[in-house]
Amino acid sequence: MPNMQKEKTKMPEQEPKVRARNFEEVALGYTEEMAINEANRCLQCKHQPCVKGCPVMIQIPDFIALIAQGKHIEAYEKIRETNGLPAICGRVCPQEEQCEMLCVRGIKDEPVAIGRLERYCADYAIAAGVEPLTCKCTLGKKAAIIGSGPAGLTCAADLAKEGVDVTIFEAFHTPGGVLKYGIPEFRLPKSLVQKEIDSLVDMGVKIETNMVMGKILDIDDLKEMGFETIFIGTGAGLPSFMNIPGENYNGVYSSNEFLTRINLMKGYKYPEYDTPVIRHKKVAVVGGGNVAMDAARCAMRLGAEQVYIIYRRSETEMPARNEEIEHAKEEGIEFNLLMNPVEILGSEQGDVTGIRVIRMELGEPDASGRRRPVPIKGSEFDIELDAVVVAIGQSPNPLMREATPDLKTHSWGGIIVDEETGATSIEGVYAGGDSVSGAATVILAMGAGKAAAKAMLEYMTKE
Ligand SMILES: Cc1cc2nc3c(=O)[nH]c(=O)nc-3n(C[C@H](O)[C@H](O)[C@H](O)COP(=O)(O)OP(=O)(O)OC[C@H]3O[C@@H](n4cnc5c(N)ncnc54)[C@H](O)[C@@H]3O)c2cc1C
Ligand code: SF4
Repeated sequence: MPNMQKEKTKMPEQEPKVRARNFEEVALGYTEEMAINEANRCLQCKHQPCVKGCPVMIQIPDFIALIAQGKHIEAYEKIRETNGLPAICGRVCPQEEQCEMLCVRGIKDEPVAIGRLERYCADYAIAAGVEPLTCKCTLGKKAAIIGSGPAGLTCAADLAKEGVDVTIFEAFHTPGGVLKYGIPEFRLPKSLVQKEIDSLVDMGVKIETNMVMGKILDIDDLKEMGFETIFIGTGAGLPSFMNIPGENYNGVYSSNEFLTRINLMKGYKYPEYDTPVIRHKKVAVVGGGNVAMDAARCAMRLGAEQVYIIYRRSETEMPARNEEIEHAKEEGIEFNLLMNPVEILGSEQGDVTGIRVIRMELGEPDASGRRRPVPIKGSEFDIELDAVVVAIGQSPNPLMREATPDLKTHSWGGIIVDEETGATSIEGVYAGGDSVSGAATVILAMGAGKAAAKAMLEYMTKE
């Protein structure tokens, strides 16, 4: 008889007031007892709707059944059959829109906490020192991966498992993509990301950092070096701006710059780390996605007295994960909804002093299906600030497409591919993740890396 407890088993968390001033992980994970209690909420549905909601088709009821039996390593192995980064996905996947949205328990009560259970298995296995995946004998084929975010890492893992000689080329000094430079330590500890990368290296994958491809080497160079197939997973790292007056004042950041300084370059540990970050007192973050929540919560942790989210629609339309919105509110971030910046105000010295916003109301749905925000005439007012972080979206990194004239791209910058295989307009060259879709999610990038690896293997081994 399943456990019919209506709510998900709670996961312990750091107290909001305490965690709002430190960079340690917010959610502390299940104990064994909590995990087994939650696993027993699963009905083991025959038609398994949850699996259909997972872009990499984790066999969800099977791994949950193993947890219920106390077989935690076996549960981890079951997940790892299809997902090479479970400790990461268990923490950052938008489960509420994917597997958990389709969970039968969610019809009347809260769905099974699939994400928390995934995280539990991964953490348990890592703590137990589980062996990395081994690869088959050498296939005698070479593949290059450009970019080491979740798309590139997944593609590399799936190819290496089949015995392909894989080299990843990464522009930054450290691999991981957004997992390292964007998502903050308090949501995704960097040591965990590094562990997942280390296990790839144990499988024989080579990683070359500080390799800005398109500048140092291009696709033709890689082909000449004997790489038969190439995967482009360069992400969406080009920040968008609002194009309003005052965006060039000191104290205006793109979310990329703000988060990279803090997360990748450990600015929050200055002067222990050599990356100065100005500790602003009143900060506004413009946007309503995960990136905006992360930037706001980082600003709070750096010691700001007031942090505002400024978003032009209502909370219902916010694209951020529910959990991130809740956590941000608990930590004291103020939500200024239905408001849009029209100008950033500055001093004679060129420093930010405030922001002028206009109130909005919601009109008819637009092309995205969300109700269009419409400005209310004459409703402008000013908010006093000393920093503004612009988190209104990113588009694909332009360098590879600029260096590769034969690579067909959309007018907005995304690489054009065959949806099933990730094949680009250049033979033997595949692409996936945010560089194709525009800013999306970790699991979708992983799904694209997986699909491309399959096609690349077929391409390399066809008669
Ligand atoms: C702050 C933030 C928070 C997020 N939160 C979540 C979340 O909670 N849940 C979720 O599912 N998704 C989240 N996302 C989105 C998610 O992280 C991305 O969709 C995902 O990382 C995309 O993976 P990718 O492999 O395509 O690209 P990326 O992770 O961007 O990796 C691309 C890599 O390519 C490298 N690169 C770029 N150009 C070159 C070049 N010319 N040569 C060599 N290397 C190059 C980059 O340095 C980078 O390392 C978040 C994104 C951000 C920015
Ligand atoms: S839908 Fe929910 S209850 Fe049914 S098998 Fe999946 S996780 Fe279990």
